[in-house]
Amino acid sequence: MPPPPPTTSAAGEPAEFRPGPAVPLGPARAERDWLARAGCARPGVDPAWFTAEEDDHAAVALARAVCRGGGCPVRLWCRLYAEETNPWGVYDAETHTERTRRLRRRREWVA
Ligand code: SF4
Repeated sequence: MPPPPPTTSAAGEPAEFRPGPAVPLGPARAERDWLARAGCARPGVDPAWFTAEEDDHAAVALARAVCRGGGCPVRLWCRLYAEETNPWGVYDAETHTERTRRLRRRREWVA
């Protein structure tokens, strides 16, 4: 029997807060039907903006603008998905680091 997966990273982060693999948004994730209506699936939106390194401020700003200013109709679905899986990248205008901090604060509040 394999050992159970670790519950904390070397840095002490609970496993659920560690970055998941980069999952591009938009057409590449068409298996999630709500993504077909996503702002980030529209023509002219580069999926790379959403999975850029967080210090690529220009790309992150472009991704946030699509989420916030583009009238994305599936923000709630997107946020729930991101909270469930905590993947790398911008989801609902939030970077992985921002989401991780918010989820950690929430966990501390309810503890
Ligand atoms: S909120 Fe942003 S990342 Fe989420 S589906 Fe909409 S445009 Fe894409």
